[in-house]
Amino acid sequence: MTKKINKIGVLTSGGDAPGMNAAIRAVVRACTHYNVECVGIYEGYSGLIKNDLVTLDARSVANTINKGGTFLRTARCNEFIKKKGRQVAYDNLKKAGVNALVVIGGDGSFRGALEFSQEFKFPVVGIPGTIDNDIQGTDFTIGYDTALNTVVEAVDKIRDTASSHNRLFLVEVMGRDAGDIALNAGIGAGAEEILIPEREDLGIERLLKSLDHSEKTGKTSSIVIVAEGKTGMNVLEMRDYLNEHRPEYDVRVSVIGHMQRGGSPTCADRVLASRLGIGAVDALMNGSTNVMLGVQKNELVTVDLKVVLLKNRNIEKELLRVAHISSL
Ligand code: ADP
Repeated sequence: MTKKINKIGVLTSGGDAPGMNAAIRAVVRACTHYNVECVGIYEGYSGLIKNDLVTLDARSVANTINKGGTFLRTARCNEFIKKKGRQVAYDNLKKAGVNALVVIGGDGSFRGALEFSQEFKFPVVGIPGTIDNDIQGTDFTIGYDTALNTVVEAVDKIRDTASSHNRLFLVEVMGRDAGDIALNAGIGAGAEEILIPEREDLGIERLLKSLDHSEKTGKTSSIVIVAEGKTGMNVLEMRDYLNEHRPEYDVRVSVIGHMQRGGSPTCADRVLASRLGIGAVDALMNGSTNVMLGVQKNELVTVDLKVVLLKNRNIEKELLRVAHISSL
C-alpha cells in the first residue's frame, strides 16, 4: 500500500516550451481540487538540489495560461545525473514533506524522473513538454502546436520576399532529431521541399531533383524547409553546394531559431496542457507512478515511462505523401 499523497511538487526541466505555464497551472488547480498542497520547484532538478521551492495555491497561477516560457524557469542539471545529487534532491523533498512529483519536460527529464522514482520509491508522473514532438506514447507534446504556428507565420513572410525576387530560400527549423516540425509546418506553409532527419533519401539529391522538376513546371520561387537534425548537410553547407552546382539560383538561408520556442501558447497547446496537468494529478492520486500522461487519438492515456523511453516516434508516412503531392 503506497503512502497517502498530500503534497505534490511540480517542476519544468530541459528545454522550455510554450504551454508549460498552462501545465503548471493545471497541476496546481488539480491539487486544489483534491485538497492537497502544491509546491513549485524552480529551475528543474537544480531547484530540487538547491532546495529552491515555492508554495503554490490556486491564485498563484492566475494570469499564467497565456504566457510563454515557464515561470518556474527550467534548467539542465548535471548533478542530478549522479546518485549523490539525486540523494540531496530526495532529502530536500522529504524535509519539505513533498511525497509525489510531476515532471514537465522532454525525454531527458523523464530519464531522470524514472531513475529517481525507482531509486527512492518516490511517485513521479511525467508530462511531455517540448516543441519537438519527439516523445513516444503521445500524439502531441506541449509547445509543438505553438512552434508549428510560429514557423508557418515566419515562412509566410519569407514567401512574400521569395516570390518578389525569384529566390530560393532554405529555411532551417528546430526539432532536434525529429522532423515533425519541418514536415507539418512545411505542409502548412506550402513548402516546395521538406528535408527531415528520419529519411536518408530526403537530402540534397532529392532537393536537386525537386528543383529540376520545379523548373520544368514553371515555379519561379521556392521555399525549402530543412530540419535542424542531421539531413546529410546543414543548411549553410546546402547553400554552398547549391551555389556551386546550381549557380542559376539566388539562394538565401533563413534560420528561424529560438523564436520557435517563444510566444503565447496556441489554444490547442493550452487545452492539451490543461488535460495533461489534471491527468497527472489524477494519476498520482489514483496510485500511479512512473507513467507519462499523453494523448492518443484524442484520448487521454497513461504510458509507462519505460515504454516512453524505449524508442523514438516514427514519422507518419501519409504526411510524406501529402507533402510530396501538395508541392507538385
Ligand atoms: P529534455 O528533458 O528537454 O530532453 P535534457 O535531455 O537536457 O532535456 O534533460 C533534462 C535534465 O534531465 C538533465 O539536465 C538532467 O538533469 C536530467 N537527466 C537527463 N538524463 C538523465 C539520467 N539518465 N539520469 C538522471 N537525470 C537525467
